[in-house]
Amino acid sequence: MKHIFEKYEPVIGLEIHVQLATASKAYSADATDYGAMPNTQVSPVSLGHPGTLPKVNEKVIEYAVKLGLACNCTIREHNEYARKNYFYADLPKGYQITQDTTPICTGGHVEIKDVDGNPKKIGLTRIHMEEDSGKSIHDIDPFNTLVDLNRAGTPLLEIVSEPDFKNGVEAYNYLSEMRKLVRYLEISDGNMEEGSLRCDVNVSIKPIGREKFGTKVEVKNLNSFRNVQKAIDYEIKRQYEVLEGGGTVVQQTMNFEAASGKTVLLRAKEDAHDYRYFPEPDLQPVLVKQAYIDDVRSQMPPLPKELYEKYRQLKLNDYDASLLTESKEIALYFEQIIEHTQNYKAAANWMMGAIKSYLNDQAIAIDEFPIKPATIAALIKMVEAGDVSNSAASGELFRKLIEEPDADPRKLAEVNNLIQESDSDALQVLIKQALAKYPDKVEQYKAGKKGLMGLFVGEVMKLSRGKADPKITNKLLQEQLEK
Ligand code: ADP
Ligand code: MG
Repeated sequence: MKHIFEKYEPVIGLEIHVQLATASKAYSADATDYGAMPNTQVSPVSLGHPGTLPKVNEKVIEYAVKLGLACNCTIREHNEYARKNYFYADLPKGYQITQDTTPICTGGHVEIKDVDGNPKKIGLTRIHMEEDSGKSIHDIDPFNTLVDLNRAGTPLLEIVSEPDFKNGVEAYNYLSEMRKLVRYLEISDGNMEEGSLRCDVNVSIKPIGREKFGTKVEVKNLNSFRNVQKAIDYEIKRQYEVLEGGGTVVQQTMNFEAASGKTVLLRAKEDAHDYRYFPEPDLQPVLVKQAYIDDVRSQMPPLPKELYEKYRQLKLNDYDASLLTESKEIALYFEQIIEHTQNYKAAANWMMGAIKSYLNDQAIAIDEFPIKPATIAALIKMVEAGDVSNSAASGELFRKLIEEPDADPRKLAEVNNLIQESDSDALQVLIKQALAKYPDKVEQYKAGKKGLMGLFVGEVMKLSRGKADPKITNKLLQEQLEK
């Protein structure tokens, strides 16, 4: 692809739909549970039957404001609703209630990493509230399309980015960042597989240096972050070949076929919908007042970026700080450990080492992890004081604690004989024994073969059954051998 980027500059914009984790739908009291029996969560309101009226779910406003604040957007005071009309089997009302000219959030940005790992700001054009359609199911009945309307009316936020992306990697990183954000805010589960996060991409390329954008192609039906990246890279290459072959890029909507990794024509511009937007007559505009925004702001949880910066300030490196803030639950557990210890690096090592690998092995989340953060901090202190070795603490003692999470770690270490031998008298005895075992090696050491130190330390460790403090052992051995 490098030769393409020497001549052309890609311009890419993303449209994300986030399904909100509200208990009820956007404009009715129907439940929104995923995986419920088909067509059990549909009232006449969701069906748009005559005589029914929609009602705004206040949670949707709160969630939109939360996301807007997290993305540094301007929040609109006067919010109107609009009808977007089209005919489809899974759209029972024949229209979607959405926002057209008055999106609740505008401007703002999200910070991502570019291909080189440097920070880059992606601008947001708008975030607006709308409702989902039902689901058409084509793969159960061989002759008919089945329709499940449970999803119809589930609240969505549509997030439209500025055309600020240059390649597939940036789009991938942006999606990861957005998913992290909605999960931190607890406004969506962000699962792409279950359709809670959906993404359409818009791709065009232009010769380097030209102001005017090229003709864009929209790619839909992307069901994973990887496929978003692949579809973008494929489109850039396809458009490059069209232009280099003397052709022109046609404005169209494409489908991404995961199996072949290619984009294929879905519809040309001539078939573009005319949605006949008009103001929703059944809903009053909603006023989002500054006092309300301030109230929502005061209830915002810590955001990944804030925590990342805090951890960098605590002298953790980029790698540790990024991993720790990957999920809110992990970050919050870490926060609790460091309430009890200032050894941040050790706390990070515990999180990313023993704890993470235990979670992975057991395939559980941190909220199911039995050991309390304060106990981890106590282990860190015991290692610092030289009472237990790091390997004993993160190995045997850690395993014992998982079985008995409420036990006192120090008592557990004593009972299991894990307290480190730092008493130098006892150690001296072992050192003498060890050296007596290898008289010729001692001679060789004294003659300059300093590499033999490892052998002696190893022997002392063996005699102490792993409880000798390696540092002290080393020092005492040196003294003994220099005599
Ligand atoms: P439409 O009217 O087709 O919906 P919009 O102007 O609303 O188009 O933009 C939809 C998305 O496409 C946005 O994310 C925007 O940043 C992006 N976009 C707009 N123009 C281009 C272009 N020439 N190339 C790539 N992406 C673009
Ligand atoms: Mg648009």
